[in-house]
This record gives sequence, structure tokens and C-alpha cells, in this order.
Amino acid sequence: MTSPENDLDPGETHEAAGELLAHLQRVGVRFIPQPKAESVESWNSRWIQDAAPADSQPAVAATSPQSPPQPSAAGSSIGPEVKTPPRAPDSRLQPVESFSASDDPYPGTSLPIAERENQLANLASVVAGCTECTLLAKCRTQTVFGEGNPAARFAFFGEAPGADEDRLGRPFIGRAGQLLDKMVQACKLQREDIYLLNTVKCRPPENRNPDPTELANCREYFEQQLQILRPEYIVCLGAVSAHSLLKTKLSIGRLRQRFHQYHESKVLVIYHPAYLLRNPDAKKAAWADLQMLMRDAGLA
Ligand code: URA
Repeated sequence: MTSPENDLDPGETHEAAGELLAHLQRVGVRFIPQPKAESVESWNSRWIQDAAPADSQPAVAATSPQSPPQPSAAGSSIGPEVKTPPRAPDSRLQPVESFSASDDPYPGTSLPIAERENQLANLASVVAGCTECTLLAKCRTQTVFGEGNPAARFAFFGEAPGADEDRLGRPFIGRAGQLLDKMVQACKLQREDIYLLNTVKCRPPENRNPDPTELANCREYFEQQLQILRPEYIVCLGAVSAHSLLKTKLSIGRLRQRFHQYHESKVLVIYHPAYLLRNPDAKKAAWADLQMLMRDAGLA
């Protein structure tokens, strides 16, 4: 599915946006959210500059039953800083239609913040004592439960702790985590605004992918975390978390650029920051995905 503005070239889009802005100002609309120049700039200059064009256009977001008020089309397209990535002429990967892993609401009720903290802390101590995966329990320094704002709108869902995370017991603090911080900041968010968790809570030896049994053993922990948090958005970082959450084997290339659904949360799949470190050409696509998130969440 493509949005109508995909038929315009970037010059026409800018012109149309200018006309729309002028019209909105004439009719008295005073506040149109603008991306902060410096956050976009940090991506443009530091992350995207040398990258190849994104492989597809941002798509119109599917709505979930819990959708927040949608930013207007004007809000999302006005502002010279946000550039629509050009469509790759030979794009072969067509995104799939939106995917629903679980349509039903989260079980239980939404909890007050103090109760969320309490339940997360209890769950973290259960996880700390878990020995279900004999090998992982033997190799780990400690479990890495996850951390962040218990009232976060956004949960970022990664794969597994690496060496730095295993040493310090905190998610995303190595090189991939530092890139993730920059990606989050480019969305005008801070670590304190979000919640970070992984599909498995122990570091797999040699940083290999968690195996299917390990993923299955740990599943109940991330499911319970998400049930306590009930984030509006879950951003799956990479294939392991996307496959695990959405119960699919489709590639990131096919899953990205769409909002999928997990209970009441909208799910966006983006490239893992560790993959972006190895494949800087994919940063442009990741930025297009994050812009889609920002627009949908009213941050752009
Ligand atoms: N990669 C992940 O997927 N999670 C972490 O916590 C760190 C690196």
C-alpha cells in the first residue's frame, strides 16, 4: 500500500507542503509540530550521509484499537528537515500487509506505575534465579532483565545481552546500545522515556543467536514484561525479536514499513543497531522507519 504523496516527486511534495502550511496558518492553526533540526541533523550528518537510498517509502500507518490521536498529514509532511527518502527504482522487497500476532487486548488491567514497578521488580528476581537453559545459566555473569520507564509509550525490543550487558546487567550499553541511544535521541526521546528489553535475558556464548529452545524458555518473561508495561509501541530491533514477537519468519525487509500488532501495542520492525554498525547503507532505511514511528506517535 502506498500513500498518495508517494506519487509526488520531492520538489512537488515540498511545494504542496508549503501551500498546506500557508493554508493552515491562514485558518488559524498555530502549532505544527516540527522535528528539531539538530536531531535530524545528527542523523543526516553522522548516520545517513553515505548510506544508500532506503528501499521503500514510508507507508501509511495501520491503526490499532489503541491508536493515539493521529498527527495530521500536514504535521508529518511539513518541515524542510524531514526528507522523504527516494524510492529505490529496483526495489524488490515488497513489505507484507500488517501482521497481527495477537488481536486480543493484553490480559488483566492497566496497572498504576508503582504497581508496575513492583511487579517488574518481582519478575526480575524470578528471572535472576532462572536456570531453565542450563548452558546460558552456567555461562552468564548475571541476567539482563531490561530497564526503563514503567510508563513508557515505547518499548524497544532487542535480541540478547552481549558481553558488556552481561558484565553490567543492563541492556544495550555496548556499541550497538550507543547507536541505539542516538537513534532514540533522533526521535526526540531519551533513554528515560523508553523501556528496553530483550527476547532472552542471558548472554548466549560467543554472542550467537539464541536457539529456539532458549527463545521458548524465555518467552514467558518478555510476555509478562510487555503485559505489565502495555506500551503503545513496540519497536522490534532485528529479526530475532520480530520473529519471536510476531511468530513469523519473514525477513526484516518484508516486515518493516508497516505497523503490526501485538495485543494493543503497535509493532514496528527495524534493523538492529548491531546490523546497522556492520551495514551502514541500511541506516537510511532505519531512519525512514523511525520517521514513520515519529509521525504516528505525534513526535514529528
Ligand atoms: N543487543 C541486543 O539485542 N540487546 C542488548 O541488550 C545488547 C545488544
